Amino acid sequence: MTTIPHFVRGQRVAADGSLPVFNPATGTLRSKVPVPDAAFVDDVVSSAREAWNSWRYSTLSQRTNILFGLRHLLVSHADEFAALITAEHGKTLADAHGELARGIENVEYACGLSEHLKGDFSSQVADGVDVHSVREPVGVVAAITPFNFPIMVPLWMAANALATGNAVILKPSERDPSVSVRLGELLSEAGLPAGVFSVLHGNASTVGQLLEHSGVDAVSFVGSTPVARHVFDTASASGKRVQALGGAKNHMVVLGDADLDVAADAAINAGFGSAGERCMAISVVVAVGGVADTLVEKIATRMDALRVGPGDQPGSDFGPLITAEHRDRVASFVHNAPTEGVTVVRDGTNLSSREGFFLGPCLLDNVRPGTTAYDSEIFGPVLGVARVEDYDEAVALINANPYGNGTAIFTRDGNAARRFARDVSVGMIGVNVPIPVPVASYSFGGWKDSLFGHAHMYGPEGIAFYTRAKVITTRWPQPSESQIDLGFPRTR
Ligand code: NAD
Repeated sequence: MTTIPHFVRGQRVAADGSLPVFNPATGTLRSKVPVPDAAFVDDVVSSAREAWNSWRYSTLSQRTNILFGLRHLLVSHADEFAALITAEHGKTLADAHGELARGIENVEYACGLSEHLKGDFSSQVADGVDVHSVREPVGVVAAITPFNFPIMVPLWMAANALATGNAVILKPSERDPSVSVRLGELLSEAGLPAGVFSVLHGNASTVGQLLEHSGVDAVSFVGSTPVARHVFDTASASGKRVQALGGAKNHMVVLGDADLDVAADAAINAGFGSAGERCMAISVVVAVGGVADTLVEKIATRMDALRVGPGDQPGSDFGPLITAEHRDRVASFVHNAPTEGVTVVRDGTNLSSREGFFLGPCLLDNVRPGTTAYDSEIFGPVLGVARVEDYDEAVALINANPYGNGTAIFTRDGNAARRFARDVSVGMIGVNVPIPVPVASYSFGGWKDSLFGHAHMYGPEGIAFYTRAKVITTRWPQPSESQIDLGFPRTR
């Protein structure tokens, strides 16, 4: 049984493993991951602080070169990374390549750091007085990440945090932690000084120590809403800057004028891709007016063609869920649905008897507030359909939901789409785009219970989060005040 090492001071550090890491496609134990004691956490934080004291003074070109090098190495190791992600997470190789590509986008954005870190300058704000501003690194950043994007979310954080001169301690999900160690090794190969990026494995108690550690200055978190709220409250109370992204319940509104084949295809991809384990997955299709019956039929027909299988098997549309417990929890929403007046149109739960943590695609009709299938973040291959009379009812449904991560509208009407984008209390909106994850030059973040703190992740808000502003007001003695004759006119 292998144990996944930490990555500290630029090296793998072996430790006894205690938490299981499975291959979800076979249900077998792959390896174990350690949970460090408090002394080890202290040591990792002090190594990061020590490294930061030099890294903060690194030149912009030095950082840019390292990030360009990282990009090159990630591209050339893409197959290795995808295989590792699929083996521990279960998603298809195509999905694993896709998440790596979205992560690399953030490295590319960070490569523009000399532009992102430009300050302002105002000349002659008073006689002989100039003002300029700079943005300096915050210090040591704890990056705490979820299981569902084991390389993309660490890169959302690390690329911009390192570019802006911070040290990063990544605490990856304990369920698929291997790829973060390889990220550390590639950063070292690209020239990052030892200690500037560390991987510290562990569980809730490890995170708890980081949140209250005096050597940690900022916390970037992505995960479920209850944990995000706890992380935000605890780290804020310790005086740290925090951004904590939480869970989601994303609605896709289909208006009466939409192309229903396009909408059904989108619902399939956004509802079942990566087994629904995406924070931007569509969870509820909101059928407006008379489209519901036709739309449900089109979605159900397409579901019958989906192939569920190991992520490394050619032809699989989606793979297993992350653990047996999570698979059983997801199945329970489908089993309970009829007791709450929700119709099970397609039931994929019979796949749960297969080896591995598989669950087939499920479709629930007539979900609505007050049913557990609507009120909970299911995070699996279960798509709900909510039927509403009109546009206003669709918007009211979305705005009453406690989550506000992403949403989409399918329509041919530009005005309706434009109004929708303004009416909904949601952070990321798609118009005929079911998963509107912003490109790396914009920032990613939800509203309401999908984000605690004000700073969205990556892009310009990421640069702002990882830096603090300094404003310098300068006055040099006027030549007439100078004691020394410099040989230029004393008045100007
Ligand atoms: P999770 O909240 O269980 O775990 C996330 C991280 O927090 C892990 O590193 C874990 O070790 C740590 N953790 C778990 N319990 C903790 C506790 N009590 N105290 C401190 N730390 C704790 O999330 P997950 O199951 O790994 O990921 C799935 C969740 O993440 C879903 O809710 C999904 O919507 C959300 N997510 C959100 C986004 C977003 O951008 N908003 C992106 C990806 C995933």
